[in-house]
Amino acid sequence: MQVIRLNALSDNYIFLLYDRTQNTAAVIDPAEAEPVLKQLAQLKAELVAIFNTHHHHDHVGGNQQLIQQFPEVTVYGGAEDRGRIPGQQVFLEDGSRVQFGGRVGEVIFVPGHTRAHIAYYFPSEIAEEPGELFCGDTLFAGGCGRLFEGTPTQMVNSLTKLRSLPDNTRVWCAHEYTLKNLQFALTVDGENGDLQKRFDEVKAYRSRNEATVPSLLGVEKLTNPFLRWEQPSLQSAAKSNDPVQTFARIRGMKDRF
Ligand code: ZN
Ligand code: FE
Repeated sequence: MQVIRLNALSDNYIFLLYDRTQNTAAVIDPAEAEPVLKQLAQLKAELVAIFNTHHHHDHVGGNQQLIQQFPEVTVYGGAEDRGRIPGQQVFLEDGSRVQFGGRVGEVIFVPGHTRAHIAYYFPSEIAEEPGELFCGDTLFAGGCGRLFEGTPTQMVNSLTKLRSLPDNTRVWCAHEYTLKNLQFALTVDGENGDLQKRFDEVKAYRSRNEATVPSLLGVEKLTNPFLRWEQPSLQSAAKSNDPVQTFARIRGMKDRF
């Protein structure tokens, strides 16, 4: 299974999963249809699945047009998103499984950004090779999604689930927000050497207009302030010893950043 990253809208990424042996593809969060159709034409591949993480327009905006072009496509989303995802046929819950290209993806229920948000995790089938995590707007490179429909407690639980995956997991998040996220991270965790190093790397990437997605979960654990609510540096920035309150206060500071 090959993952192809496509640019969409102003700062969204769409991910195309491609199975060379069957010449089929699946798409994660098609913000718009055009880039997907273009890539499918280039591959001469048939689209068999749309995997949506949540109902926001910049994640499902391409669903209708893709369904028109590929009437056989199956549209997946979270059970709680019933009625909010165009064309949704499969209603997934925590622990549900999906299949594509001989790989099995595990569904992880991650409410917080929205009340229905899910992530798709495809564990590696070969030791030492990375698994792939498609986490929509829950975990970002260097950040996390805003809490539109969920509470800090829910988001901490959701991020705890994602944080428990192996360090070499590749994190395919849906937006190129990394530089801004790390600029903020430095304001609350400025003594963190791993973070300083990552900031310099990301700055160099972005100055060449290169993507910073996917990132590695192990790097997120060391540098992402929204996975580090137990760290003394973050707790002192938040003036709290409580993990959820630390998360909530850091999230609030980011909202105003
Ligand atoms: Zn969203
Ligand atoms: Fe989004």
